Amino acid sequence: MLIHQGHPQTPSGRVRASIHRTLETLLDAILPPRCLSCRESVDRQGTLCPACWRSLTFIGPPVCERCGLPFEVAALTGSLCGVCVGTPPPYRHARAAMVYDEASRRLVLGLKYGDQTYAASSYGAWLVRCGAALLADADLLVPVPLHPWRLFRRRYNQAALLAQATHRLSGVPHLPDLLMRRRATPTQGGLGVSGRRRNVLGAFQVRPRLQKRVRNARVVLIDDVMTTGATVAECAKVLMRAGAGRVDVLTLARAIRDR
Ligand SMILES: [Zn+2]
Ligand SMILES: [Zn+2]
Repeated sequence: MLIHQGHPQTPSGRVRASIHRTLETLLDAILPPRCLSCRESVDRQGTLCPACWRSLTFIGPPVCERCGLPFEVAALTGSLCGVCVGTPPPYRHARAAMVYDEASRRLVLGLKYGDQTYAASSYGAWLVRCGAALLADADLLVPVPLHPWRLFRRRYNQAALLAQATHRLSGVPHLPDLLMRRRATPTQGGLGVSGRRRNVLGAFQVRPRLQKRVRNARVVLIDDVMTTGATVAECAKVLMRAGAGRVDVLTLARAIRDR
């Protein structure tokens, strides 16, 4: 199952891509490649078996122009969902590669806690595909940051891995340190929409020494999952307040239970 798509546009990107392929081949020789989800053996590292591939729900049009919520029935281009009509989000567009459900949850958890960091390059290809319109003229990729303590415990930020992979495939510059967490927020699980909004209020800031990079920049904010959208909305507000020209959001998966 082919997952790598898109081509690096810069010479250094091409060199990196070729090193990446060599490492991948070496890795395949040492460890037999396994499905990212069920661990069945597959042809290539960082891919899914056909059954797991079919279990994912990729998102395509028609979607809400603003938040990317998939519509069940055909809609006119530019249509908005009820939530976006009532409370327009602080970002311009949000797009996600797939629906956050049982099948995609396994992939997200593997990337987040399971040390499946090599999977990020496959997921980067999905992000590049679903976010092509947002990436076409973007200036900066910025991951949603982890608090330093959480980063210390997990050793890596899954959103930064996704942003890095998206950078490699799209050529859009990646600025992983632009946003920082001012405080650790309790986990969002179990909180409703307003609880999540309160939980992340004031949690982020633009790193002072990088303030200049934000001014007028077309930013694509990257995260693994968008649940209620409270986290990405808070980050988008902080970036807009710091002078960003626009903020779009790109996530691997998106919850749709609010529909
Ligand atoms: Zn599988
Ligand atoms: Zn919407």
